[in-house]
Amino acid sequence: MSETIFTKIINKEIPADILYEDEQSLAFKDINPQAPVHFLVIPKKAIATINDITPDDREVVGHLSVVAAKVAQKLGIADEGYRTVMNCNEFGGQTVYHIHLHVLGGKPLGWPPYTAKMKEPE
Ligand code: 5GP
Repeated sequence: MSETIFTKIINKEIPADILYEDEQSLAFKDINPQAPVHFLVIPKKAIATINDITPDDREVVGHLSVVAAKVAQKLGIADEGYRTVMNCNEFGGQTVYHIHLHVLGGKPLGWPPYTAKMKEPE
C-alpha cells in the first residue's frame, strides 16, 4: 500500500492539530471542516479502506470509536450529539486511503447527509 498524507501526520512529518494520541491511534482536526467540530480518528496501522479490515484489526478498529467518544466529550459535543462516518472507496466519497472515522458535531446535522453528483454511467 502506498503511503498517504495520514502516515506523514502520524510520523509528525507534516503538522496537524492533534487532539489525542495513544499507541494505536491519533485524533486530529480535519483541515477542511464540514461542521463546527470536525475531527478524524485514525489507526496508526495503515489500513487502506474498510474492505481491507481483517479480523486481527477488530480491536484497533473498535478503539477508534472509544477515542471518538473520549475526544467528543473533551470538546463538549458529546451530550448534544454528533455523527461518526467512515467513507469507503469512490462511491463512499473516500479521498484518503488510510481508514479514518470522521466525527462531526457542534450543530444539528441533517439526514441523509447529502447526495453527491456522480458521473452518469455511459
Ligand atoms: P475522506 O474523503 O477520505 O473520507 O476524508 C478525508 C478527510 O481528510 C477530508 O475531510 C479532508 O479534509 C481531510 N484531510 C485531507 N488532507 C488532510 C491534511 O493534510 N490534514 C488534515 N488535518 N486533514 C486532511
